[in-house]
Amino acid sequence: MERILIKDLNEKVGETVLLNGWVDVRRDHGKLIFIDLRDMSGKLQVVIIPKALENGEAIKAIRSEWVLEIEGEVKKRPESMVNAEDPQGAIEVEAKKINILNEANTPPFDISADGYEVGDDVRLKYRYVDLRRARLNKNIVNRHKVIKFIRDYLDERGFLEIETPILTKSTPEGARDYVVPSRLHNGKFYALPQSPQQYKQLLMASGFEKYFQIARCFRDEDTRGDRQPEFTQLDLEMSFVKEEDVIALNEALLINLIQTLMPEKKIQQIPFLRVTYKEAMEKYGTDRPDLRENKDDKNLLAFCWVIDFPFFEKTDEGKWTFTHNPFSAPKPEHMEKLMAKDDIANILAAQYDIALNGFEIGGGSIRNHKPEALKKVFEIMGFNEESITNNFGHMLEAFSYGIPPHGGIAWGLDRLVSILQNEPNIREVIAFPKTGDGRDFMMEAPSEISSAQLKELGIEIKKNSK
Ligand code: ASP
Repeated sequence: MERILIKDLNEKVGETVLLNGWVDVRRDHGKLIFIDLRDMSGKLQVVIIPKALENGEAIKAIRSEWVLEIEGEVKKRPESMVNAEDPQGAIEVEAKKINILNEANTPPFDISADGYEVGDDVRLKYRYVDLRRARLNKNIVNRHKVIKFIRDYLDERGFLEIETPILTKSTPEGARDYVVPSRLHNGKFYALPQSPQQYKQLLMASGFEKYFQIARCFRDEDTRGDRQPEFTQLDLEMSFVKEEDVIALNEALLINLIQTLMPEKKIQQIPFLRVTYKEAMEKYGTDRPDLRENKDDKNLLAFCWVIDFPFFEKTDEGKWTFTHNPFSAPKPEHMEKLMAKDDIANILAAQYDIALNGFEIGGGSIRNHKPEALKKVFEIMGFNEESITNNFGHMLEAFSYGIPPHGGIAWGLDRLVSILQNEPNIREVIAFPKTGDGRDFMMEAPSEISSAQLKELGIEIKKNSK
């Protein structure tokens, strides 16, 4: 007999079926044991009369989270026992045969509740058990749906999903790089990408015109609230576009996504509000304002584009650095100032961020595709000719082989999904997240490596180097 999923049982009343799943709850009434069996599709009450089963004695030992195969008959529940809230609340299965596929230790914590009160260290150590709780299961399922929607939407509009390297060279996104030592080239290191920024621009040079990727990004930052060392972006780039084109596409995608997948959500304002950085700072004191009219309404979403960011800001040492992205173009009317390195503080970038309910969920820009203009940005930041060539020579060179005007954006996908799921922390929507200080309690990463591995890599560890 072929296994059937619990969600498909309502049409099978009177039939004998084969089920697989976990024991969610067990209620022992002596002669009668009730269990709620759980599979990937739902839950169902199974009635067990141990005496009627060949292995009745063994069955009495069944506990929560044991894995079972059950053959039984689907029956209608008596009218008074129907649970209207549960999709399988009108039926139950009477077990005829039970095969214990696996026994289970008592779970390290209760998984029937939402679990916010359980310590993160233990939840992350036993993440595979934690993920069984309905709240997390729903988060992961909905994350999948969001990603699938994005893929389909962009595919229908001519975008190609293209993978870019993970082992690469530093990309300046304002954080530290994670580095990977090279065995074949001792003393040299790869950097993990802080974003696919440079590659996606190079894909525009290659003529793909519309690129996207569900891209893993790595940033080595000090513990800062709700951050993860690796996180996921919807990364996107388009050729022959202006700010308006990128904004319009992304706004339409967000609206469609929410209206299709989450009809219970209400978008406060369509089209989304647009404010300049200056207005946002003057009016709201932040560039990611929370504009919700009712902050207690869990289904209210207030999006806002913030545009016209200053291109440069001063570092603590008094040097100029980029505020968002060194590859951004200035606003067209500010190109002259950039080329003359004049009035630097007031050069505005063709940069746009998108905020949702007080969080930045994305940002992007029209890029500086003229090599001589891009060079000026690095000069303003104090790079000399040699360091420009060393760090960005490949980009400048690529731009000299015919690159179209282009621009793009990246969304913080974890953040977006966490807001849509009303979760306080992005950890809740990532299957295997790390702690705030970058540890994986389950795998025990980061970890030491063997002296043989170190030797191959040409690395010597200085003890107590901190
Ligand atoms: N690479 C940028 C980031 O990670 C996004 C972009 O400008 O497309 O923030």
